[in-house]
Amino acid sequence: MANPEKASARTLAGKCFCGQVRYEVADEFAYAANCHCSNCRRTTGSAFKPFAGIERDKFRLTAGDDRLLIYGDAGGHDAHCGQCGSLLYSLVREGTYVHVAMGTLMDDPSRTYLRRFQGAMVHDYGRSAAIS
Ligand SMILES: [Zn+2]
Ligand SMILES: [Zn+2]
Repeated sequence: MANPEKASARTLAGKCFCGQVRYEVADEFAYAANCHCSNCRRTTGSAFKPFAGIERDKFRLTAGDDRLLIYGDAGGHDAHCGQCGSLLYSLVREGTYVHVAMGTLMDDPSRTYLRRFQGAMVHDYGRSAAIS
């Protein structure tokens, strides 16, 4: 479990299922939601998509950017791993924000309210983890 006291300059790592695409994002998400819209249900194949939003310049790919499968255009798209198909993030709001699919995070965001969204996933799908 990440240390919640370290707030600033902390980064969170994430990756797709096969591990070819990896990213790093500042631990400074501006908002989060469980989106139940039909687009998010289809892109994830799940009942809803827990995601967290952040300014684009606080997100960067650290591996596999040449393997991305982009669905959409420069102003807004979904980015999947071209190898395993995981939805990693969506570029939104005219390309100014990124919606990180929280299921791809490896580290826990330090803000408690953000962990609630990961907690919802854990409860609904029965993974065992202690999230407060
Ligand atoms: Zn992959
Ligand atoms: Zn949606």
